[in-house]
Amino acid sequence: MFAFRETHDLDPDPAAGGRRVEVAFTDSSLDLQEGEGVTAALAVLGAELDVAFARVSQVHGDDVVVVDGATELGGGAVGVADGVVTRERRTALVIRVADCVPVLLADPAAGVVGAAHAGRLGVELDVVTRTVERMRALGATDVRAWVGPHICGGCYEVPAGMRDEVAAAVPQTYAETTWGTPALDLGAGVTAQLTAAGVDVTVVPGCTREDHGLHSYRRDGAGAGRFAGLVWLP
Ligand SMILES: [Zn+2]
Repeated sequence: MFAFRETHDLDPDPAAGGRRVEVAFTDSSLDLQEGEGVTAALAVLGAELDVAFARVSQVHGDDVVVVDGATELGGGAVGVADGVVTRERRTALVIRVADCVPVLLADPAAGVVGAAHAGRLGVELDVVTRTVERMRALGATDVRAWVGPHICGGCYEVPAGMRDEVAAAVPQTYAETTWGTPALDLGAGVTAQLTAAGVDVTVVPGCTREDHGLHSYRRDGAGAGRFAGLVWLP
């Protein structure tokens, strides 16, 4: 069910009260493609995790939505956005991807979490920094990030002009495929943006195109499934 799962606890001693955050990336055993797929997959995850889910309709933009106590959960998406943040406990933020970069964010001490979807356009728009800024507006100060599995720079072939355009905005994205053609390294770009924003980054390894335990649009085409990045305050 999970390609990666971690409990990050600032107070490992339970007697200290626990300022914990949970992060996870699902694997290809679940398909969260929009429609029946995402409803069924979230039901499976809900039985496992005992949390409510807040997912967004992702549009490769840089809008960030805030989930609070008044937000309707359990139905469809909570908004049209590529970043989502909350202070609510037991509410898992859900980002769905198949090659784009899923980014999970947390300040467990302040009790603020966030998640972002960064594809090529999201990297150009710096959606991850927009999401960090919204977390700080909610009281976060010490934000850390988990950059999830995505298509690697050695696999993400693009036209030379596109590489030049994105690298002009984010130089760290400039890459070459393993077969010697122009490429983009979106993970390097996101990591550079987060670092510039003062965020500590953990890179969760895995290339979606190469690892069949993950969904990949470049590998599987229009029928590709979606896996999820999840972050929540227990
Ligand atoms: Zn790869």
